[in-house]
Amino acid sequence: MSKQEQIDKIAEQIIKDNVCPELASAATQLVMGDGNADAAIVMIGEAPGKNEDEQGRPFVGAAGRFLDEMLASIGMKRQDIYITNIVKYRPPENRDPSDDEKAAFLPYLEDQLRVIQPKLVVTLGRHSGMAFLPGLRISRDHGQPKRLHGQVYLPLYHPAAALYNGAMRETLLDDFAKIPRILEIINQQNKI
Ligand code: URA
Repeated sequence: MSKQEQIDKIAEQIIKDNVCPELASAATQLVMGDGNADAAIVMIGEAPGKNEDEQGRPFVGAAGRFLDEMLASIGMKRQDIYITNIVKYRPPENRDPSDDEKAAFLPYLEDQLRVIQPKLVVTLGRHSGMAFLPGLRISRDHGQPKRLHGQVYLPLYHPAAALYNGAMRETLLDDFAKIPRILEIINQQNKI
């Protein structure tokens, strides 16, 4: 079975397990992920918004356009990464996902990562960063890779935070610029 087929099975399981039924009934559809399941990089956001809920793909609104721009700045496209969220249904009125909702979806996200086996997990925003890096302080830790239980994480600010904030935009672009070198170092370490 291909990695994408295995991810499709996890999506079926989320529906079978009736995860977060209130979110499910208010949402148009499950937004499982997008891009290339064989990629070396997985990026993880918070939860789908209105556009994502309508189109069934993560990061297709304004934050997604900025994400595409940041990917282009390091010579990458959507097809070079896999992108998903912790919470896979849109929270009503775009509210933050609750701790319970994040906890309910986390095992499925962990399954997704076990299937993909990325070299680098890039967390976008506090919610996603804290799910993997306990004690994370995004203002202090952004842009600094951390290895935990054999997996390398790079915590970044959320692209939506940069939409109306020029300084944040520069910070995110600078942090993104580190990704190719981080991948190179991981690849070298894995050769030894
Ligand atoms: N913000 C997110 O965290 N995820 C999306 O898919 C879109 C916006």
